Amino acid sequence: MTDETVFDQYPLDQWKNPDHRIMDRFSLVGKKGFVTGGAGGLGRNTAAAWAEAGADVAIVDLPRTRDTLEPLAAELSARYDVNIVPLYCDVSDRSQVEALKTSLIDAIGTVDIAFINAGVNVPGDDADEPYEVWQKTIDINLTGAYMTAQMAQHIMREHHHGGSLIFTSSLSGHNANFIGGGPSPVAAYGATKAGIYEYARYLAAALAPYGIRSNAVSPGYVWSGIFDGRITPEGHDLMIAPVPMHRFGTNEEIASTVLFLASDASSYITGTNIQVDGGYSVY
Ligand code: NAD
Repeated sequence: MTDETVFDQYPLDQWKNPDHRIMDRFSLVGKKGFVTGGAGGLGRNTAAAWAEAGADVAIVDLPRTRDTLEPLAAELSARYDVNIVPLYCDVSDRSQVEALKTSLIDAIGTVDIAFINAGVNVPGDDADEPYEVWQKTIDINLTGAYMTAQMAQHIMREHHHGGSLIFTSSLSGHNANFIGGGPSPVAAYGATKAGIYEYARYLAAALAPYGIRSNAVSPGYVWSGIFDGRITPEGHDLMIAPVPMHRFGTNEEIASTVLFLASDASSYITGTNIQVDGGYSVY
């Protein structure tokens, strides 16, 4: 490459091309992807966002979510005229993740984008937590993220195209979140979410030569459905007290961030984390 061609790769004013539209960078038309934890609040809203943007999406969750996942897939397919398929997998089970790889290729052909999002906060996850609580949290949140992300990036490399991995970390991976005078019970949970972020960063470095980006999103308190019926209005007010924006986030506020990270609008972003937490992490 001469110096002239090296510099030619950096167009200065793409907007001057009459056919150029910057909003096209947010499109996912022609992309294929999957979302784990797809029956949950963040997962199904991201699947909907990706579908609206034109992607075919496999929504992946535990077999016990079948009654949610089947009608969800049918509704999204009809609404957005793309291929949305429900697939079942316990992400902490190695053989099920191996089987998921085959099912994904059969159902949607390949994987360009993957939202590695399945996660749990097991009761009893405090300073005195039993070994079983710790291990279950690590198995699902961290080992599950490793296995599903590795399966996804292997598909991307075997099919000789790039892609985007987006991991769900958490506010709790950065702060010992504080509710009403003490830390919330997120000891192992926070450890897994910090680990997920660092794993995403490592993959960003290792997979850049293959055109694969890897990033994390860290939700703060999001009204995803998991708090419905579990906290009182007083509990709600206590939780949002340290949040500068003084409210929960919504599922769509996470989905739009994940859409950005999946799309070419973020084509020069890898190895980073986006806090979507109303400003909680500034303290
Ligand atoms: P959710 O409970 O609605 O969704 C989680 C989904 O993961 C569920 O559908 C569940 O069935 C699935 N899941 C659990 N174990 C699984 C397994 N072994 N294999 C496959 N799927 C499994 O919760 P959500 O709020 O949508 O959370 C999604 C992600 O966001 C989680 O990783 C969670 O830790 C993270 N997060 C949520 C918040 C919040 O405030 N809602 C904040 C920070 C991070």
